[in-house]
Amino acid sequence: MKVFKFGGASVNSAEAVRNMVSIVRQEPTTPLLVVVSAMGKTTNLLEKLVPGVVSPNERTTHLSQLSNYHQQIIDELFPHGCSELHNAINGMLQRIAHLSSAVPTSYNYDYDQIVSYGELLSTTIIAAYMKELGINAVWVDVRKLIYTDSTYREGRVEWKQTSDNVQSKLLPLMHNNIVITQGFIAGTADGSTTTLGREGSDYSASILSFCLGAESMTIWKDVAGFLNADPKFFSNTVKIDHLPYNEAIELAYYGASVIHPKTVKPIQNKSINLYIKSFVDPSMPGSTIGNFDSISPQTPLYIFKRNQILISILPKDFSFIAEDNLQTIFAALAHIGIRVNLMQNSALSFSLCIDNNEVLINQLQEILGDHYHLRYNTDLELITIRYYTANVIQQIVGNRQVLLQQRSRITAQLVVSDTMSIAL
Ligand code: ASP
Ligand code: MG
Repeated sequence: MKVFKFGGASVNSAEAVRNMVSIVRQEPTTPLLVVVSAMGKTTNLLEKLVPGVVSPNERTTHLSQLSNYHQQIIDELFPHGCSELHNAINGMLQRIAHLSSAVPTSYNYDYDQIVSYGELLSTTIIAAYMKELGINAVWVDVRKLIYTDSTYREGRVEWKQTSDNVQSKLLPLMHNNIVITQGFIAGTADGSTTTLGREGSDYSASILSFCLGAESMTIWKDVAGFLNADPKFFSNTVKIDHLPYNEAIELAYYGASVIHPKTVKPIQNKSINLYIKSFVDPSMPGSTIGNFDSISPQTPLYIFKRNQILISILPKDFSFIAEDNLQTIFAALAHIGIRVNLMQNSALSFSLCIDNNEVLINQLQEILGDHYHLRYNTDLELITIRYYTANVIQQIVGNRQVLLQQRSRITAQLVVSDTMSIAL
């Protein structure tokens, strides 16, 4: 039994869906579990439809964009129409419109209820298309399998219940079938929808691989494998052929976008090989993450995180950033659900580098503003280099201003920019 994961780029058009389905068809191993993300940039679009994020006018524009995009793919895949699919998709689009215009409650909760529709739309369309082609495909609602607690936007997996669900509800369906299900989304035991964090579909595939004891898991990407840098930012990339599990965990944690940070642990636990392969050229060997001693070939590895914000938090009473202050700050971060990419403290201030998200940052200001000054720099880039040399750092940073840096024996991290500091 194998698990395949297809990301948004692999299903972003009718042609992409055809290619993805042909990869699934060529796989001789059944049963096969196929985990799919939302089509293209649908998740970004749905994020704008969370209640309270945009004006009613903008909402209307985004809703029709969402509808047209999926409708066009359906029209191309089903030239003779498919009324059952049409009804299902229309029902979902109506539900999205309804949720989007509701009065905002809690941002994280509202987010999950609406953003989860990206994967429900994509898998419904793809499963219908597979059936149309005569493929023995079964659609499964992953919210009945992967259970999390109610930490919305970053659900924490309830492993025991998830494993029981997989044994009792998924395994019986797998027999000689291709099962298609959603990445990224999950559910609570009492039936509400959660998500696992952005780019969480890899993690979904890994959770299910673990629970099924899969023989391997394959992530199909638009790149040749695990590269030493994101080709969007870097021209001379090197493909890593073999990567030890722990190295992959470190890299993903620092933000290597090829793989979600939580993905590797579960499959490492059961020594399941993880293949990263190209959906553009499935015959190429790709990369393998597994029980290796070191990366090969040996080369520096670069991770770039754009649109970062560096917040300095200073107690208004000029007290030291002692345990009490840190406790308050971390409690606020955890409460809001802010993920810290890099942090550093001095005697009087605490600095953290996070992804820029206005809604969450305003919440932080609201909670901490009475007792702390918050200053911030925007438009920053967080650069992480594994196996760095002074030369390599110099090349990457150039003459940009370094606002903060941390180095260990293996890893250098730098926050760089040239913008001015503004007080909130
Ligand atoms: N669709 C979700 C996202 O774009 C999950 C994923 O693609 O992994 O973040
Ligand atoms: Mg994606």
